[in-house]
Amino acid sequence: MSDRQELQNDETTNAKQVILPGATIGMVGGGQLGRMFAMAAARMGYRVGVFCGSSDEPAAEVAAFTVCGPLTDHSAIEAFAKRCDVITLEFENIPADTIAACGKHAPTYPDASVLAMAQDRWTEKTTLREAGIPVAGFEPVYDRESAIAAGDLLGWPIIVKTCRSGYDGKGQHRLNSPDDAATVEWAGAEGGEDCQPPWVAEALVPFEREASVIVARTLDQRVETFPVFENDHQNHILDETKLPAEVSSEMQAQAREIAMRVAERVGLVGLLCVELFVTEDALIVNEVAPRPHNSGHVTIEACATSQFEQHVRAICGLPLGDTSMVVPAASMLNLLGDLWQAAEARNASPNWEACLETPGVALHLYGKHAAPAGRKMGHLTAVGDDLPEVSQRLHLARERLLSELG
Ligand code: ADP
Ligand code: MG
Repeated sequence: MSDRQELQNDETTNAKQVILPGATIGMVGGGQLGRMFAMAAARMGYRVGVFCGSSDEPAAEVAAFTVCGPLTDHSAIEAFAKRCDVITLEFENIPADTIAACGKHAPTYPDASVLAMAQDRWTEKTTLREAGIPVAGFEPVYDRESAIAAGDLLGWPIIVKTCRSGYDGKGQHRLNSPDDAATVEWAGAEGGEDCQPPWVAEALVPFEREASVIVARTLDQRVETFPVFENDHQNHILDETKLPAEVSSEMQAQAREIAMRVAERVGLVGLLCVELFVTEDALIVNEVAPRPHNSGHVTIEACATSQFEQHVRAICGLPLGDTSMVVPAASMLNLLGDLWQAAEARNASPNWEACLETPGVALHLYGKHAAPAGRKMGHLTAVGDDLPEVSQRLHLARERLLSELG
């Protein structure tokens, strides 16, 4: 029996499984996604236990209980998983063995196979391409020679990305010509060309804008998508998410359809975000993440159901929530560690009072103790009738964080 068939049988057997409020949800990972998930779950009457490295991580600070230890420590995994009725995660780079070990004690979503797909860009891209999902041209890269061969095949420039552990643009290089291939340290290619490639080269996509879609799916195969988000990145890190996206309604429908196809293809239970490039006439999938997503934070204020509540509903087998917008327009701006550093350079802290004087701005801080450049420390959201006005007001609120400092 193929893995897929096994999964489908499993889905059929467990089709009626519902985990009701009052139960304990386990969250593997202690970051801000786990924190906002725990807050949504607590509101709905669930207890959330967090398994993470240390008790001062963002999610640990709002959890009903915490188990701290290395995520690979089997006695810690057991101590955590035994106390949970269902287990989920907030970060796709959690070792698949950890998720498999959790699964011995409680249903664990998404499945380790979904994680394995999302943990490796090569596996992810081949899975998507085989499912007929549009992706940019890509080639395996093992060393300098194969990077040059990839560029010659795909056309220069190319973007070379590490297959594993990359996030927020880390591990990526843009190569404009064969000469640029000499500037990269091609470590990690010891296995040779018979192994999974350590790098993947992608054609540069001449996108007009970037977008994302979040999809939720239950064990009994119910599925819902959120409206399409429009995303602006700075230095490869998400800066602003806007709703509604300035994308035609046909393309929005197509984007939501793509997200549902990905969810069905991988047998998702839980939440998954599809990042897309929008070109003049096409949608191209960039990457997928089987968890809540930074671009979905805007749903807390902008949609009838937030992405975090939807995640709870999906893994607990509850009815999926209404994803429609409750306001005409909304925007979310990230607050990175750079802001703290700029304030500190003037011997001050970010000016929260000035920021919150801006009407209708919601502040979310993740309780992180150190603020290095590029670290996601929090975000701001604003809603209103008119997107340009909302976005302008929100930028003003963020600028005010550095106003009137000593
Ligand atoms: P991460 O896992 O770090 O989020 P991504 O693959 O999503 O990595 O890349 C981060 C950003 O870099 C993208 O959102 C996009 O702005 C830019 N980028 C990545 N790949 C391409 C590409 N093939 N063509 C054009 N821009 C790209
Ligand atoms: Mg990305």
